[in-house]
Amino acid sequence: MSIVVIGSVALDSVETPVGKVENALGGSATFFSVAASFFTKGVKLVGVVGDDFPQEHVDFLRGREVDLAGLERVSGKTFHWSGRYGDNLNVAETLSTELNVFESFQPKLPESYRDTQYVFLANINPELQMDVLRQVRNTKLVVCDTMNLWISERKAELLETIKQVDIFVLNDAEACQLTGESSLNKAAKRLLDYGPERVIIKKGEHGSASFTRTSYFSSPAYPLEDIFDPTGAGDTFAGGFMGYLASTDDLSESNIRKAIVYGTVLASFDVEDFSLNRQRSLTRDEIESRFAEMRAMTQF
Ligand code: AMP
Repeated sequence: MSIVVIGSVALDSVETPVGKVENALGGSATFFSVAASFFTKGVKLVGVVGDDFPQEHVDFLRGREVDLAGLERVSGKTFHWSGRYGDNLNVAETLSTELNVFESFQPKLPESYRDTQYVFLANINPELQMDVLRQVRNTKLVVCDTMNLWISERKAELLETIKQVDIFVLNDAEACQLTGESSLNKAAKRLLDYGPERVIIKKGEHGSASFTRTSYFSSPAYPLEDIFDPTGAGDTFAGGFMGYLASTDDLSESNIRKAIVYGTVLASFDVEDFSLNRQRSLTRDEIESRFAEMRAMTQF
């Protein structure tokens, strides 16, 4: 099964305790698409880049067989995010967000995208997420992510969007910010009241938890000792999660749990290097071997 994703395609400048990169390939839709491409060859990206976006990045995405019919190139500058991580690698400090070509972007889905059953609304302005949702027919699974900027600047639009999605994925700080709760269990319950059937809360190195009205599942993170750059871990988690679900087309509780573990495994590779560098050499065998380790680790 294929997946439509709307989100940022970016050039990132990132500083972590072990180094920094300038104008490296990034963006929520980029990390998502590359992660999902390890499971399905039908990732259809919706986004926009400026005329400064290097052709080598387009070639890399094409090489991962990501469908770029919905990626517009317009004159102007590509979305640019600049962030810094201190010793607590779970918390990104945004230094600047330059929306640039995303400011006037109006997504128009190619006809070949409109019947896609799996849709991922990656982190971007919720108004754009809704624009995409209006243009797809017959969806089977709609998953949505967001971040603190949109919670503070577009809360009403975000609440309108999550009413219409099946699964809402966000991190612990965002769940607390959006609900005003300090307990994650309470926050999850409040988020379920907004409409989605399932809420998945990511907790960085502490793993993730999935909540529905009748089930709870918790996965640890893969235990890494050294983290180079956490940027994109959340989007990569979502890409592994949804890529696996779309490839199996099975939305049972047990398969969703497996998908969460695949998401966790993909995210663990992402943080081993800056930008998408680790993904360039990653193989399906490495993914399967870490998945088996996760299974052994959580069996009792
Ligand atoms: P993550 O670390 O998974 O939360 O995502 C990091 C990616 O999100 C970076 O590559 C950024 O380019 C992108 N990003 C940062 N801020 C925003 C924003 N406000 N809207 C969309 N994408 C963003």
